[in-house]
Amino acid sequence: MMTTRASEGRSPAVDAATGLLAGVRQVLSPHFDERPAGMQPELLVVHGISLPPGEFGGPWIDRLFTGTLPWDAHPYFKEIEGLRASAHALIRRAGQIVQYVPFSARAWHAGKSAWRGRNACNDFSIGIELEGTDETPYTDAQYAALAGLIAALLEAYPSLSAAAIAGHSDIAPGRKTDPGPAFDWPRLRGTLAAAAVRPKSGG
Ligand SMILES: [Zn+2]
Repeated sequence: MMTTRASEGRSPAVDAATGLLAGVRQVLSPHFDERPAGMQPELLVVHGISLPPGEFGGPWIDRLFTGTLPWDAHPYFKEIEGLRASAHALIRRAGQIVQYVPFSARAWHAGKSAWRGRNACNDFSIGIELEGTDETPYTDAQYAALAGLIAALLEAYPSLSAAAIAGHSDIAPGRKTDPGPAFDWPRLRGTLAAAAVRPKSGG
């Protein structure tokens, strides 16, 4: 299996032609399709996930998103048997990014959802998973990698905006709770605001 270094601390580059991130591990998922004709990504959705819940570092998120999760391997997997889901990217606990779906395509991360009165958020959003739980503090490396990834996406897709970032819980209230109270929204917003006023070449 190919491995690459984490891109922590600097922005990875997004190739807008392919929708792929340079220099990150690619585990391409069959769980995607095309966005509606002419639709650009306008919303960033932050998620939290761990499989089984509360356990970090295993192969199971890759397996779920590639449709190869062995449902019998854990009791929790039985509860989600048959689930066909994906996200565009995952940020692991040490900050490594894994990409599953090109950002130009529609990943299956939001489910029944609405944002500013618009339903079906998968159509117009990019889904980023953080490996974690609602109650476990996300890591410094994850905040750094997330901010770098968002900066790269804002540059590659002018249809996105730093003002259009939501949690899964925000677009599917009552149904989803991730990324949970553990996610520090002011920290993310502060980092993005600081990056926005810094010259791009300033690193
Ligand atoms: Zn979610």
